[in-house]
Amino acid sequence: MSMYGELFNGKSKEGNFLHYDDANIVSTSTTYPHSDEYEFTSYIDYIDFDKECEVDIASGNGFIVQPAGRNIKKDLKAEDGIFSPKFGQTLADVNLFIDRYKCRCQTGGLRGRINAGLRCPVCGHLCESTDDNFSYFGWMKLVDPYMIIHPAYYKKIESFLGRGISIQGAKRTKLENILDITDTQIPLSGKASTTKAKEEPYFGIGMMEFIKHFDEIMDFYLKKKPNRKIAYDDIYAHRDRVFTHCIPVFSTLLRPVDINDGNMTYEPTNAMYTMMNKLVTVINKNATKIQKEPKIKNQQLYNLQKKFMELYTELENILSGKKGDFRCLLGGRYNFSSRNVIVQNPDLRIDEVTLPVVGLTIMLEQRIKNILCRMYGMTPTEANDIWYKATIQPNKRVNAIIQSIIDDCKRKGMPGLAVIINRNPYMVGHLGRKSQGCTPRNCWNVLMPNCL
Ligand SMILES: [Zn+2]
Repeated sequence: MSMYGELFNGKSKEGNFLHYDDANIVSTSTTYPHSDEYEFTSYIDYIDFDKECEVDIASGNGFIVQPAGRNIKKDLKAEDGIFSPKFGQTLADVNLFIDRYKCRCQTGGLRGRINAGLRCPVCGHLCESTDDNFSYFGWMKLVDPYMIIHPAYYKKIESFLGRGISIQGAKRTKLENILDITDTQIPLSGKASTTKAKEEPYFGIGMMEFIKHFDEIMDFYLKKKPNRKIAYDDIYAHRDRVFTHCIPVFSTLLRPVDINDGNMTYEPTNAMYTMMNKLVTVINKNATKIQKEPKIKNQQLYNLQKKFMELYTELENILSGKKGDFRCLLGGRYNFSSRNVIVQNPDLRIDEVTLPVVGLTIMLEQRIKNILCRMYGMTPTEANDIWYKATIQPNKRVNAIIQSIIDDCKRKGMPGLAVIINRNPYMVGHLGRKSQGCTPRNCWNVLMPNCL
């Protein structure tokens, strides 16, 4: 409970404060799956794209992407294109929130909040609030003999096979040497040609032959390097997921496109998807003899694979790392916490720390403001102003308040003002089980020190 709640609740009319109802507070112990009989675990697994595509289409939670148009403008308007309006309205749309309320008609029907609660005469369902559906996927699909490698497995296979011979001074992996058919044109001379024959008998066979002889190739290299059995088993745990016809296209809600005065600005993934759809379209055209030519097909498949890997890497970059989505999502700051630098001070006891005034000003924000309001008769706005300025420049009055808070703790019989110190990243997992043999370093995790 905040000090403001205690101060104004019911006593003063100014301000608009929340009134808590215990029943409405979400409790982790009741909402989190808990059972005495079962243990719940979650794990991350690789998706079987072909199966996932089938499930999506059957449940109406996705669509097959239609072949690429002649130019991007046509693709932008296409009902089933990679920029399909089925994904939902994007920022560039005139009525971007219209899909928040809709009936169940695929097109038309009742849309928009203005129609909320009305029954649609066409589908017979109510126009209801619906959230954006981020799990709605488009699927690019290669026709049957053609497949590419699942990007996660591409990486696994690439590391299993290892480094290949360099082509024209460029470092290459064995997998690249297998899939890239253009390099078969370059005659290798001397030592390189003998190593090629001995180490890489599958050099330049192309994607289609690689898929056909996959097991043979894997066994060949396993015999050469038996110590890679773990990597081999890892790939073979889900052999059926290694090759795929289907390529997922995630929602346009996550890759915005904007068109201003004929200039198109977009997120880089859109360009990759555009290229990939073009490649899928040409690969799927196999009516004439020239179109069926394996050499051309292999090149197109390899190009598609390379684009897919590019997209995969781009997505990894978006999600991973310090500035990535995951850490940004989880890396919020707690209220009334501050970050400080740890330095030694031999004058302190083991359970004491000194903290900078700015840190304390921030941590004691609510109490300082409360005292300013109560004792100095300030309005919350005035108090906030003083407090905020004190976080920038030392303020004698605020310092005195902080000292009085610390003194007050001591008067109540406590050794000082209690603070929790966390030295990242150790506290996670240690806070709850302090008794289990702390190493000296971990003992820094939780201290209840005096503040001076
Ligand atoms: Zn309807």
